[in-house]
Amino acid sequence: MSITPKQLVTALLSKVKPHAGVTLDASTGKLAPSHYWAVGGMIQPFGEFGALYYSPTGKPDRGALEAHLVAHWDAIQTVGYIGAWYAEGNQELFIDSVYRIPCGCDTLAGTSPASEKFAQQLARKNHQEAICHVCDDLIETETIGLIYEH
Ligand SMILES: [Zn+2]
Repeated sequence: MSITPKQLVTALLSKVKPHAGVTLDASTGKLAPSHYWAVGGMIQPFGEFGALYYSPTGKPDRGALEAHLVAHWDAIQTVGYIGAWYAEGNQELFIDSVYRIPCGCDTLAGTSPASEKFAQQLARKNHQEAICHVCDDLIETETIGLIYEH
């Protein structure tokens, strides 16, 4: 049985911590398995800063967040994962659908430049500012900012 939007809200808000964003499987609410690039955003950007939900105070309105999840539930399930992370000195909270792109660090071949490039291209398509490398092989999560030329 799949998780409900309300249960996913509870899972997200209980697991996200300052300095430690979280990526959950959108169908189960469980932590995403390690070794991936987290790429936020759906095919088209929408909402504030192109995210599914944004809280300028870091304290989200649970009802409003749940309503966003309900409204976009099918797309969230298609993308597969959902992420929550803080920004700006842990004042602001972002929540977005997240693609989980395997990084390859856990394979004999190691990190593949192609997987990072693909993650970056997907992030640019979704108007994201960064991609995040979440990997047991790293001491901490690695964030790679994207530069846009105008
Ligand atoms: Zn990795």
